[in-house]
This record gives sequence, C-alpha cells and structure tokens, in this order.
Amino acid sequence: MPDYSKLIDAGREAVTLASTVCRQVQASLDDVRAITKDDKSPVTVADFASQAIVAYVLRERLGDVILVAEEASAFLREDDHAAHLEATLAAVREVWPEATADEMLEVIDIGAGDTSHHSFWTLDPIDGTKGFLRNQQYAVALGFIENGAPTIGVMGCPNLPKDLSEPLDEPDPNGCLYFGMHNEGVYEAPCDDATADPIRLTRLDHEKGDPILVCASVEKAHSNVSDTDRILEIIGEESDLVRLDSQAKYAVVARGQADAYLRLPTRKGYVERIWDHAAGALIAGESGAPVTDINGNALDFSHGRGLEKNKGIVSAPPRIHGLLIGAIRELGIGQD
Ligand code: AMP
Ligand code: MG
Repeated sequence: MPDYSKLIDAGREAVTLASTVCRQVQASLDDVRAITKDDKSPVTVADFASQAIVAYVLRERLGDVILVAEEASAFLREDDHAAHLEATLAAVREVWPEATADEMLEVIDIGAGDTSHHSFWTLDPIDGTKGFLRNQQYAVALGFIENGAPTIGVMGCPNLPKDLSEPLDEPDPNGCLYFGMHNEGVYEAPCDDATADPIRLTRLDHEKGDPILVCASVEKAHSNVSDTDRILEIIGEESDLVRLDSQAKYAVVARGQADAYLRLPTRKGYVERIWDHAAGALIAGESGAPVTDINGNALDFSHGRGLEKNKGIVSAPPRIHGLLIGAIRELGIGQD
C-alpha cells in the first residue's frame, strides 16, 4: 500500500508551487510575449514551467516517480525556441532558483512515463490554456491512478474565488486548491499556501425545484452545445448554463456551486485525455457527484493516455445524474 498521506502532501506542494509559477507568468504576459515574439507564448511557457515544477517536487519528495504528463521537452530544445526556453527557465527559477536549462529539460521529460505500470501520476500542467490566455479559469491538475482508476486528485485553480458569490469569469487574487483521496472525501485549501489547514467540503445537494445549474466548456469545439440544449429541454426542469474553462468545472460541481458537468462529444472519434479528467473526476466523485461517460459507464483509465473506452463526461449528484443519462439515452446522443 502506498503511503497516501505522503503522496498527498507531495502532490499538494507540487501543485501549489506550480500554481504560483503560473500566476507569475500570468502577471507578466506582455514581458513574455516581448521576449518570445509569440502571442500564445505565455501559456506555452507556463505549461512547461508548471510541468517542470510538479515533476521536480514529486521527485524531490518521493524519489523515482512514474509521471504521465501532457508536455515533452522537444519543443524547448529546438534552436528556434531559445527565447521560450529562456523565459521558461526564468519562470522555473522563481521556485527552483538553482535550476539549469539541462536540469529543467530533464525533469520535464520525467513526464514521459509509461501507462503500463499499475500505478502512476498523471498531470495536465495547465488545463484550460484558452482560459489562461483570457486570465479566466485554468487548472494545474494532478491525479494518481491505481489499477485503472484515480485514487488521489490534486487540482490547483489559481483564478477560482473561494467565495461562491464571486463571478467565475474574473480572476481571484488567491485561488483555490482541491484535493481528495478515494473514499476519504475532498478538501479545499488556498492555492498559494501548501501548509494552510484544509477544510473538508460537504456538498449541499440540489433541491428539487431549484434551477439545475450545468457547467460546460467555453470552447464550443470541446462540448456539443446543441445537444446540451436538447438534453436540458427534455428534462423539463428549470436550468441554467455556466461556461468555464478547464477541470475547474469539476471543482465547481464538487463544492455544490453547480449541479452538473456535461461534456458531450462534438466529433466522432475524439478520445478524452487521462490528464484532462483524473484529478477532477476523483474530486467530483468524492464530493458525491458520480462521474461517468455519456453512457453511464465508469471512466476507465487503464487504456494508455486516452479514455479509449469512454465517450464524453457526465458528473452530477445521483438524481440529476440519472436524469441526464436518461435524456442522453432517449435522444440517442453518441450512438453514431
Ligand atoms: P475545456 O477547458 O473543458 O474546454 O477543456 C480543455 C481540454 O479540451 C484540453 O485540455 C484538450 O485536451 C481538450 N480538447 C481538445 N479538443 C477537444 C475536443 N474536440 N473535444 C473535447 N475536448 C477537447
Ligand atoms: Mg487539458
């Protein structure tokens, strides 16, 4: 049995420090753009820096780890991308001052881990890259998979306000971090302090008669908007949509601010990436909002870097989950 509290402490420190680095890049968008002469470079730089920091902290705390992460160092090793390399190293040095370029590239590639191990970490260093560029919601999402299912999730949401009455499309100065372990519930902590005492979340259930608040992607290419409308129409209860980027959607459901997360396939054959769901699914599931695909099947993380056996995502507390799956079935969504 792994020492779960040691894994969670390491994961929490890694995600907190990576979130700090992302925030610093976010605060200097124009400088980074000026160095790289590339409009999208701040998210590229923050993405690599975040992955470097998570891999570095996990290795420092836990020794040799298996990490399956979204990025690889090849881009930064190209001569044409020397300015990106320089900006990434500057960001990394904010929390790892003695890092050299070679050491940084080497730890980024710890993320090329193999999914055939029975347990491994999986990381999206910046989930919601478009949200990052708009300075709206994005997440640093780290999950630990054992035997095909996440058992630990740690998710930093640097722009997510703790206060549920604050708007979700404006950046918060502190942000929130969520972590949880299988069968042990979900905790909330500030995103910028790995030593702060966490608070256990108790999700308030949706009261029948209240509008059903559904989270969906901002990007229309990532979740089918017209199918979402058809589903909510067929359910026939009052409902509202809230659009936000990244796995912060799972956190918003976990803390009871929304009643569901719907992600409906936009094109045949798209396979969801494991790092886009591992941390978030553990966190929402532990809060009492089961997570399945659109056919009601559990997410299966045992098929490499993609959720090959699943289509789309439905997460909601049981009554609403049942209504959503029923409507999807009735409409024949995803049956092509
Ligand atoms: P979100 O912020 O929820 O819109 O999701 C962002 C994630 O969507 C990215 O990390 C991508 O991996 C993923 N993505 C890219 N293309 C698609 C697609 N066609 N359908 C669903 N997800 C996608
Ligand atoms: Mg992602």
